[in-house]
Amino acid sequence: MSIRYSCRCCGMQIAEFTDSQVTEAQLGLDSLTAEERALIISKEQNGDTVVSIMCDYCREALMTHPELSIVGNPLQ
Ligand SMILES: [Zn+2]
Repeated sequence: MSIRYSCRCCGMQIAEFTDSQVTEAQLGLDSLTAEERALIISKEQNGDTVVSIMCDYCREALMTHPELSIVGNPLQ
């Protein structure tokens, strides 16, 4: 099983950890509210955890072009 970070805008994989490397607590995932977890965390059928955040590129694009912000970032 692994925990994967992928960009929810472009789908790019940002980082990947195996369960033995990190825990959800180390990633700060346990401090999210249930609503935030439901928004950004999803489980795949094979048990992998996928965390949908924004990659640096999309974050930068959003700052340059705020009008592109159709969905709010729950982490900000
Ligand atoms: Zn992206």
